[in-house]
Amino acid sequence: MDTPDLLCDRFAGATVATQWRSLLELYKTIEQETASFCHAFDVHCPSGCGTCCEHFVPELTDAESSLIAAYLLYVKNVPAPVADAGSLSGPCPLYDAHSDHHCTVYPVRGMICRLFGACPSENKGGFPVFRKCKYNEDAKATAKLGPEDFGSESGTVPTMQRYAVKFSSITDGSQSKPLGIAVTEQMNRLRFIAAYLDCESGGDDNGGTDPLVPTPNPLAS
Ligand code: SF4
Ligand code: SF4
Repeated sequence: MDTPDLLCDRFAGATVATQWRSLLELYKTIEQETASFCHAFDVHCPSGCGTCCEHFVPELTDAESSLIAAYLLYVKNVPAPVADAGSLSGPCPLYDAHSDHHCTVYPVRGMICRLFGACPSENKGGFPVFRKCKYNEDAKATAKLGPEDFGSESGTVPTMQRYAVKFSSITDGSQSKPLGIAVTEQMNRLRFIAAYLDCESGGDDNGGTDPLVPTPNPLAS
């Protein structure tokens, strides 16, 4: 079982864990479908590029930011909130040029981070279109794709809008906020939920509150 699943187990019984499981399912689908799309149409980023994260701070829903907050608190052991960032201009507070893929929370990064540069969007007619990101300097990467390139496959091409529908049902219409603010808020919320769950269970087997010890517990939200 990988770490995001362990986080879901840790918060079993809490609404956040249910949301995380649905979100992780969606992320898995996105990963498989966009990888297949990129492979089929020769869409790719230059090796080692992370320029988007240097110029961009994502806005996140509660479900996305709470998963990232849990990962920071219980996997990365970062007790303090991430650097405050109400700004959306970047660099992203979770960007680290020396981390895998330049992202300190790569396994639990938000949806836009998974789609940017790798997924078509729909034009006004509802057909998929793709343009490579403006920072992509790889001349061999596909620059532009339109309905004529997809032909009869158009209906099966992944699009941001298609994922947005499922995403909205999971995130329950929660308002998005800049990552730094959203994650800080969710860290505080998770500490409260974790304390509640530990209180209900009497703590973990070591007499403490090891965050990744599963606690099969009753509800909290
Ligand atoms: S969360 Fe990670 S992938 Fe997303 S912008 Fe920040 S550093 Fe980049
Ligand atoms: S989306 Fe653009 S900036 Fe981001 S890694 Fe790919 S090429 Fe680089």
